[in-house]
Amino acid sequence: MSSRALVWFRNDLRIADHPALNAALSGGTDVLALFIHEEGGAQRTRGAAARWWLHHSLNALAGDLAGLGVPLHIVEGPADRVVPDLIAEHGISDVYWNRRYGPAEREADGLLKASLRGRGIAVRSFAGSVLAEPFDMATGAGKPFSVFTPFWRALRTRQIPPPLPRPAGRPARPRLDADTGYVAPQWTAKLHSSWRIGEAAAQEQLIAFLEAAVGDYARTRDVPGLVGTSRLSPHLAFGEISPRQVWHAAQSRAHGSPQCADGIDKFLSELAWRDFNYHQFYHRPDIATAAMVARYKDVPWRSDDAAFAAWTQGRTGFPIVDAGMRELWQTGTMHNRVRMLAASLLAKNLLIDWRRGEGWFWDTLVDADAASNPGNWQWVAGSGLDASPYFRIFNPVTQGERFDPQGIYVRRWVPELAAVPDAWIHHPFEAPAEVLAAAQVHIGSTYPAPIVDLKRSRQRALDALSQL
Ligand SMILES: Cc1cc2nc3c(=O)[nH]c(=O)nc-3n(C[C@H](O)[C@H](O)[C@H](O)COP(=O)(O)OP(=O)(O)OC[C@H]3O[C@@H](n4cnc5c(N)ncnc54)[C@H](O)[C@@H]3O)c2cc1C
Repeated sequence: MSSRALVWFRNDLRIADHPALNAALSGGTDVLALFIHEEGGAQRTRGAAARWWLHHSLNALAGDLAGLGVPLHIVEGPADRVVPDLIAEHGISDVYWNRRYGPAEREADGLLKASLRGRGIAVRSFAGSVLAEPFDMATGAGKPFSVFTPFWRALRTRQIPPPLPRPAGRPARPRLDADTGYVAPQWTAKLHSSWRIGEAAAQEQLIAFLEAAVGDYARTRDVPGLVGTSRLSPHLAFGEISPRQVWHAAQSRAHGSPQCADGIDKFLSELAWRDFNYHQFYHRPDIATAAMVARYKDVPWRSDDAAFAAWTQGRTGFPIVDAGMRELWQTGTMHNRVRMLAASLLAKNLLIDWRRGEGWFWDTLVDADAASNPGNWQWVAGSGLDASPYFRIFNPVTQGERFDPQGIYVRRWVPELAAVPDAWIHHPFEAPAEVLAAAQVHIGSTYPAPIVDLKRSRQRALDALSQL
């Protein structure tokens, strides 16, 4: 049997700027590609929305790889069994992958690498999923970064390697019949209308954003009624596009259009939060399960199943939060500003454990990311390393008035409030009876009354958190 190379795809479902694939293809041998469904393995088990995305992304990848003459094997089982089996079956001599950064993933990859090398297989790993690898970034004192601003200062002055070109091959042809081992829950069917999936779609999305919206990003990114952000997060989460590709495309746009420089700078600093979360994940295996700052381990969380259910269903009585939770359920995403407001209402006003909210997001977000989801939840809850302070409790009414003054976003997702005038759209529960009657809103029946009193619950959270 002739010698062959194996490329193991994980969170890097693309063919351009893929260092592992690039190295394998330049080796001159036959190349096989592998994706493993490792449920219950080193990787956190994916939620339903992410599994839906993964299924379609694997189909797109299979088509792109077919264009290079590389077959994609999709296998279920533990990697330490699947990889050796495939090696034996296909006479593989070289194995390539791009590195992962979660502590359990690193450990599993390290063990597999050692065992394969022990059997004479060459194993090479590469950096492909972050701007700078977590072990390559340290403070002046040689410690991990715990604060974003110095991390960003250090990152932005580094030379981010230019992305590798797309390997030469026949044009990609879509293959829609790959058996990805996926069974879709019924509710994910509706996600189709909101997204185009795969590497080609990710590239188009990047170009469209850089051409049309990035110049205004610093201003519009906080306005949920506008499409002011890139919508690249699921593409980045699955590695259909690499952060280096995004970085360099944005930089070259900045050179060509200096008037966009501020927007691009802000955009790249947001992209850097993704790296910052991976930096934390690398050093903190318990990012999704334990408060990163020890004194927040003993928050007296309330167990209020009815309030949690109302929150998940977008029935809290706070229009901007309800709009966000319904956007999430309908589309698999939620605007960043509204994610902060929804998370703050849950973890602070309702004093419900942030891990429950994180779990809901994990299951319903198409961009659910093992570093950024818990990292951001800990940021909102106040228990993250560089978190929003415990006394910062977002007011969903004033935030709504500030970022969605005409209620464009609320009216889109909470249609039963469509006729409420702007002045009351973020607090219909306080509107005069005649205003509600004219808008055909009955608080408590057509739209819920607030599930919590904002002022009292704010004080309750302050009392609980300040004592820790
Ligand atoms: C409670 C909560 C949970 C979140 N969970 C996730 C998650 O599971 N996955 C995820 O990718 N983002 C998460 N975010 C961050 C952020 O909301 C999304 O990255 C952003 O809304 C995606 O939209 P976009 O691609 O249009 O972002 P843009 O504004 O266009 O930003 C560009 C890219 O930068 C990265 N980015 C931007 N903001 C952040 C941030 N705060 N943290 C990490 N990366 C960021 C994303 O990769 C994003 O695609 C969460 C935020 C909050 C408050």
